[in-house]
Amino acid sequence: MRRTIPNILIVGTPGTGKTTLASLIAEKAAFNHINISELSREKNFCDEFDHQRNCHVLDEDKLLDFLEDDLQVNAGGFVIEYHGCDFFPERWFDAVFILRTDNTKLFDRLKARNYSESKIRENVECEIFGVLCDEARDSYKSNVVQPELASNTTDDMEKNAETILQWIEMYKLNANS
Ligand code: ADP
Ligand code: MN
Repeated sequence: MRRTIPNILIVGTPGTGKTTLASLIAEKAAFNHINISELSREKNFCDEFDHQRNCHVLDEDKLLDFLEDDLQVNAGGFVIEYHGCDFFPERWFDAVFILRTDNTKLFDRLKARNYSESKIRENVECEIFGVLCDEARDSYKSNVVQPELASNTTDDMEKNAETILQWIEMYKLNANS
């Protein structure tokens, strides 16, 4: 069964602007904004601690069950954001948007977050190599993965919000006709 209201996934290296953009979309489209990192911290979906990488490992099964059973993601109207996308069920998303940011800008944003040198390097390299773009293209059909969105300036941000909001409107028109 096709949803009448779509679900949107926003992916991108940390610092590319996912949370800022998703908040805008959620507000303007009256969608539920799910920040997977935040939700996982709140609900304790993180299990063991990875000491080498200094971060928690996500318990994906617990997270997915919660999204499906408690939040009813399948119904539509969600804008979900995370720096990974290969473990979500493909059927959940009607469009996947990938944010891209120039290295120097990304570096400055992560530095401003007080990330360690190694974490900054890891993330900037992830962005340079387009790791998340590959992951998105490997995990979702080509008609679901949308053209990459540059996220370097506040102008970009507004343009991207507009692009996604228009995509949502088009989807609704098609679904209801
Ligand atoms: P993410 O959720 O992907 O880690 P955030 O939305 O937290 O990224 O954005 C990281 C920082 O960059 C924030 O300070 C935000 O204000 C800024 N930012 C995000 N997108 C843009 C953009 N398109 N242009 C300029 N600054 C941005
Ligand atoms: Mn974020």
